[in-house]
Amino acid sequence: MYQAPRGTSDILPKEQPYWRYVEQKVVNICQLYGYERIDAPAFEDTGLFTRSVGEETDIVEKQMYTFEDRSGSQLTLRPEGTAPVCRAYLEHGLHNLPQPVKLYYMASIFRYERPQAGRYRQHYQFGYEAIGDDDPALDAEVIDMAWQFFESLNLHHLSLQLNSIGCKQCRPVYLAALKNYYANYTNDLCSDCKTRLKRNPLRLLDCKKSSCQEVALSAPKSIDYLCPECNRHFEALQSHLRLLKLPFVINHYLVRGLDYYTRTVFEIQPESGGAQSTLGGGGRYDDLIEELGGKPTPAIGFAAGIERIILNLKKQGVPVPPLPSPQVFIAYVGDEARDEATKLASGLRKKGIGVIEALGSKSLKAQLRQANTLGARHTVIIGEQEITSGTVILRDMTTSKQKTVPLNELEELLR
Ligand code: AMP
Repeated sequence: MYQAPRGTSDILPKEQPYWRYVEQKVVNICQLYGYERIDAPAFEDTGLFTRSVGEETDIVEKQMYTFEDRSGSQLTLRPEGTAPVCRAYLEHGLHNLPQPVKLYYMASIFRYERPQAGRYRQHYQFGYEAIGDDDPALDAEVIDMAWQFFESLNLHHLSLQLNSIGCKQCRPVYLAALKNYYANYTNDLCSDCKTRLKRNPLRLLDCKKSSCQEVALSAPKSIDYLCPECNRHFEALQSHLRLLKLPFVINHYLVRGLDYYTRTVFEIQPESGGAQSTLGGGGRYDDLIEELGGKPTPAIGFAAGIERIILNLKKQGVPVPPLPSPQVFIAYVGDEARDEATKLASGLRKKGIGVIEALGSKSLKAQLRQANTLGARHTVIIGEQEITSGTVILRDMTTSKQKTVPLNELEELLR
């Protein structure tokens, strides 16, 4: 028997109310903040991701689903959502529109990870990007939108973590200080961190191993190395966040896993779960558009994992509305009635009334049982006698009360 590939899952009908609930909140929040939807392809040229996410990141080094297609093109299944949006921004000349351009997506993301609760090889993200402005007020708005999104979902007990990791002017000085500091602790680091020290020192700060975390405690902090512009930006951002009454905390170890980030980085985590259960994160990426061949264009974005949101909705017992069940079930007794049932079902559907028609030659009792299981509000029963008299029996499935009604009044009654 085939099974869904490791790290992937089927979203069965009983799970769908959660997905529709989250989707509806996504659409609402995007409308409130003026974001328009964009859908990019599920795969892109591999170079787009190696270039933007960074060669030294876990995603590019270990997690991409990369393949050569039949014409020899190197392609990669989207391992994150920001680079495709930036590619589309450039490809379609969106820099000619009033800036910032605000776009959102909901898309499947593919990463070859070690599957565990809340970590899959295919997952879905809701993300949004505001491209073309470097005002710290925009950072605050993007963070506010993320926070309000979780509020609108009725998710609580979350924490908002904030940091600034500087820009290409000040970061090299900070990285040198980090390397200098860590050089004294190489023996205490895990093997991954030993490599990170050489290739991607920023990631030393968010290693999940306790021995590495201990070393990180006294490491130099990025905010102490910000250049005057980055410092001003970070200060202004914080005062905007205070204005919006957002309960942020500064986390000096927050660096994010992708190389394109500059200045502002932030994450939203469940209070009890720690960094590995992060619901969503984002930040500025002021150099990315230029890196991809455009003019210097500052930008900022955010993305959240839908599966993790749903895990937390369940954990917190947040009720979600059920999806509408079929309104009407049509049952019949006898072959002649069956044809009538088919005509009636088709006619009602054309009028916009949802109908499920019985099939086969089950007893009336079995048909009613099926209607019940499907959650139909009414069952219409047709037998020989009804055909002769131009009527049907209408049964209310909640009260089990039945009445005979003229066929030509049925539609009106069902409405
Ligand atoms: P990232 O692009 O790594 O910043 O991820 C953004 C959000 O997507 C995270 O905060 C998680 O909620 C979610 N996420 C990332 N990777 C996975 C994964 N492998 N499985 C499920 N959700 C994920």
